[in-house]
Amino acid sequence: MSDSYKYVYSFGGGRADGKADMKALLGGKGANLAEMSVIGIPVPPGFTITTEVCAAYYENGKELPEASRPQVEAAIAQVEKEMGARLGDPSDPLLVSVRSGAALSMPGMMNTILNLGLSDVAAEGLARKTGNVRFAYDGYRRLIDMFGSVVMGVDHEHFEHELAALKAQRKVKNDTDLSGDDLKLLVEKYKAVYKKGTGSDFPQDPKDQLWAAIMAVFNSWEGHKAIEYRRIEKITGLKGTAVNVQAMVFGNMGENSGTGVAFTRDPNTGEDVFYGDYLINAQGEDVVAGIRTPEPISRLDTDMPKVYEQLMGIRQKLEGHYKEMQDIEFTVQDGTLYMLQTRTGKRTGSSAVRIAVEMAEAGMIDEKTAVRRVNPDTLNHLLLPGLDPKAKVKPVARGIAASPGAAAGRVVLSADAAIKHAAAHPDEPIMLVRKETSPEDVAGMHLAKGILTATGGKASHAAVVARGWGKPCVVGCDALVIDEKAGSITISGQAVKAGDFLTIDGTTGDVMIGKVPTVDAEMGGHFATFMAMADKFRTMKIRTNADSPKDALKAREFGAEGIGLCRTEHMFFDPQRIVDMRKMILADDEAGRKAALDALEPYQREDFIGLFEAMDGLPVTIRLLDPPLHEFLPHDEPGQAEVARQLGIPIKKVQDRVTQLHESNPMLGLRGCRLAIKFPEIADMQVRAIIDAAIAVKKMGKSVLPEIMIPLIGTVEELSFLKKRTIAVAKQCMAKAGTEVEYLIGTMIEVPRAALTADLIAEEAEFFSFGTNDLTQMTFGFSRDDITSFVPAYLEHKILKVDPFQTLDATGVGLLVEMGVTKGRAARKAKAGEHLKVGICGEHGGDPESVAFCHKVGMDYVSCSPFRVPIARLAAAQAALADGKAISRDR
Ligand code: ADP
Ligand code: MG
Ligand code: MG
Repeated sequence: MSDSYKYVYSFGGGRADGKADMKALLGGKGANLAEMSVIGIPVPPGFTITTEVCAAYYENGKELPEASRPQVEAAIAQVEKEMGARLGDPSDPLLVSVRSGAALSMPGMMNTILNLGLSDVAAEGLARKTGNVRFAYDGYRRLIDMFGSVVMGVDHEHFEHELAALKAQRKVKNDTDLSGDDLKLLVEKYKAVYKKGTGSDFPQDPKDQLWAAIMAVFNSWEGHKAIEYRRIEKITGLKGTAVNVQAMVFGNMGENSGTGVAFTRDPNTGEDVFYGDYLINAQGEDVVAGIRTPEPISRLDTDMPKVYEQLMGIRQKLEGHYKEMQDIEFTVQDGTLYMLQTRTGKRTGSSAVRIAVEMAEAGMIDEKTAVRRVNPDTLNHLLLPGLDPKAKVKPVARGIAASPGAAAGRVVLSADAAIKHAAAHPDEPIMLVRKETSPEDVAGMHLAKGILTATGGKASHAAVVARGWGKPCVVGCDALVIDEKAGSITISGQAVKAGDFLTIDGTTGDVMIGKVPTVDAEMGGHFATFMAMADKFRTMKIRTNADSPKDALKAREFGAEGIGLCRTEHMFFDPQRIVDMRKMILADDEAGRKAALDALEPYQREDFIGLFEAMDGLPVTIRLLDPPLHEFLPHDEPGQAEVARQLGIPIKKVQDRVTQLHESNPMLGLRGCRLAIKFPEIADMQVRAIIDAAIAVKKMGKSVLPEIMIPLIGTVEELSFLKKRTIAVAKQCMAKAGTEVEYLIGTMIEVPRAALTADLIAEEAEFFSFGTNDLTQMTFGFSRDDITSFVPAYLEHKILKVDPFQTLDATGVGLLVEMGVTKGRAARKAKAGEHLKVGICGEHGGDPESVAFCHKVGMDYVSCSPFRVPIARLAAAQAALADGKAISRDR
């Protein structure tokens, strides 16, 4: 950096050195102050010291680069000229604010210092010049407080203490009730606090004040608060903060002055109305600080109609210019309006959708831009029921927000109780409350509107299942104590009986006693328009993971174009079927197993008919039985006794079988295709049910497209073995019915060996579906059910950037996926001359970043839970627009 290098950028008076796209150099605040000046919006003049100076400050061992000093001096002179006042001039002092501002907004990094330039003589001069002693000394005492606390580290509370004491003495409530003389006295007290805190007098030279304030802003960049904020928000790669020095304008000059903050549209609903607050006769952060209750911005129309009209004009101008909703700060000094800040406004998911749609419809932005404007994850809030915003909500406890949405229901303490309750009162909502859940609870979970558990984290059984079904769920609620025997619970010490109402908010983790009204999601209107816009750019198909016609229909409402994963095991947990399932598991021989399977087959067939009908010709991928069999048997003695009674066998037999099925590592044991190879009659029954269902639906005159998926393949031989059998069974069914149906046989790629040998497997498979839950589990060697014990520590120490079960690990697991796609496609083309259909069906199919990855590697579709279908649609559209550019891999 040479002497001629530009360190300082001026703005104001209708011109500026910088502009809006220079945020990296000038910070967001500085760049937009420059931009507003240029487009003719009234901005008090000032200058921005660049983020490069901040970087140099740290490189120099906390010294300002010498060459920057004369540039700051020159910029001050320019502001003095513009304002017709000089820093420290006793008869007419120029006052300035010193404001921090990095490229990304970092609230709370450093407080702004206002009224810099005041001293004993300057305050007196200002009082004389304005004829307003109160105003002058109010400014001075604020400066001593802000400079003292922000720059010198004196505890702000010590100043507050003096203010409160004086107000009490004068028996007044508001700061504004103190007189000029009171404030003069307060300044003396503040100076004493300052001296006690710093060991020296409050600096009387404004230049000393200014240089100290500039250094303080730079120091705040490496302050504890800023470092923490950047860590939490994962902000990296910024040079530093800029410093904005700007002439003061005064909102505290009387009843014709004021200050306010506003959004150009309603940030909660997105409605095209002006939204904000202001305070008459106030300065700086008074509006947000809650010192007095602010007025709604619409009242400004009556208080200061001229100013209001001008502000409405600026609102329109800013939106027209930035083509985005803006969050603005303004001050009125004696009837004259000044803008002090503008930036892109933060908003909720539903308002983001509405704003994008309305701006596109108005021709302000094109559709591509509109589609890029909405963060897919924020759609979550639109899709699920939420607490009625008009309801009074008083949480008694807060657990971990595991699956979003709100639900109210009557408390049941077990899956059995849920089933009984649902049978007796089919219309009543149920809240399943458990210490934790296990696969045995799924029937009860399915019936429940919401699920609350005392233990468990975001990857617990309850959380994963609830998320899959789009059911609100709160886990890890420490304040919950369950007494199942007594049929009651206590939450934070308050007793709740089974049958009483309980409400949970799975978006926040809040738990409320009683029934809080909830409101359903709005599927039409702006949302529908927006999704249609996104679909224009999307190239991947979106399917859903669904096990029942009800879920399938829900998913189609959300735009699903097929089923990517039907987990057949969920169909066996129905109270009636589980009996036959257990009979099958407990059978002594093949004949016994076949008899039980015969009883199950009609149910399976009916299930598939329902699914095919619901999907009406769209592809339906059905996975053959996957989980280890022990998951279908109870592990507690009362449960085992009940099974023995139902089946009319001794309990010992049940227990022996449980022991026999016990595996040290069930996730790596007898499951998936291994089950089908060991007990082929199970797979045979399922294939028959699938093909017969397809034939039945075809006979109704509807089209069907079943895809039979064989799970957990690691070698092509496993697949060949089962494929042969599948084809034989299907042939039999078709011969018997005298009708042909089309179907595909494919596999899940979820064992690393399958990805590594994808070329061999593709010679047999007609489609691949990446089961990235298991693939992640086996590639990392992380047990998905046990990660809560160490993944948080891994995230804290940055050993992992993200939980790989939430966002696909592009670097490692992704390499296997990419290899699987490439090798599989090439081999299938060579062998059969056809395109290998490839999709994903792990939880990652609903995660935007992972969806972008799937797009990049050329998948045909992603499949996710019904409630994430719109999120995946939007993520896929954005991925197509970015065309793979958004993916990051280590190195
Ligand atoms: P933050 O980044 O915390 O919003 P700002 O730098 O925007 O901090 O300053 C906070 C508030 O101080 C502003 O909203 C504005 O009301 C007030 N302020 C800052 N600079 C000036 C100024 N030159 N004149 C009057 N008020 C100012
Ligand atoms: Mg601000
Ligand atoms: Mg699996």
